[in-house]
Amino acid sequence: MSFVSIALDGPSGAGKSTLARRLAETLGYLYVDTGAIYRTVGLWVRRQSCDPGEEAAVSALLGRLEIRMQVEQDGVQHMYLNGEDVTGQIREPEISMYASAVSALPPVRAFLLEMQRQLARTHSVVMDGRDIGTVVLPDATVKIFLTAVPEVRARRRWLELRERGNTDSYEQVLQDVIRRDEQDRNRAIAPLRQAEDAVLLDTSGLDLEESSRALLEIVKEKIG
Ligand code: C5P
Repeated sequence: MSFVSIALDGPSGAGKSTLARRLAETLGYLYVDTGAIYRTVGLWVRRQSCDPGEEAAVSALLGRLEIRMQVEQDGVQHMYLNGEDVTGQIREPEISMYASAVSALPPVRAFLLEMQRQLARTHSVVMDGRDIGTVVLPDATVKIFLTAVPEVRARRRWLELRERGNTDSYEQVLQDVIRRDEQDRNRAIAPLRQAEDAVLLDTSGLDLEESSRALLEIVKEKIG
């Protein structure tokens, strides 16, 4: 049996996770949020009071790390860190920076690569991340690069955080978005970039419904 894989890459706040989840639901595919996997590593490193920029120290911690991903009754992808459900905790803004820092380390990327590929070997997937079309699934059936200008992405993220009770200002969130973009684009390994054969979708002027429709159009055109 052959499986279909849809790679959805782009910077934070482009709407990837919401759109990817919807698309997966529409198609009946497994949704894989790879950012959540990096966030789980980030949380682990922080709990160990380890500097996320220290490659050797982080690498040494990976041996004691077991990550599991499970889609539960509520349809949400839950993340388990050594058996503990950390789905809520990995969404803290501080963990975003830890995730971004550890994701620049080669041993961390190598550790997670096989886990991601294995999911695509055994399911039809919509996988979202930064390097899915370029590194993880270079032969993905459909590749889409989703983006929006930083101000729009920061505003979406700010609204989302506010809903969860976070009090960070819009300016703070914008600075975080810009800093994280910078880190993700400029790292030496698996930097955020559009794959040559990816379709670009800019959602700056589109609302959720419009973005969702545009995405489905691109996919339908490719897979019929
Ligand atoms: O997508 P999300 O914001 O949850 O990702 C958190 C961080 O994990 C990103 O800033 C990025 O540095 C890293 N990441 C990555 N490769 C992926 C997914 C996420 O490097 N495929």
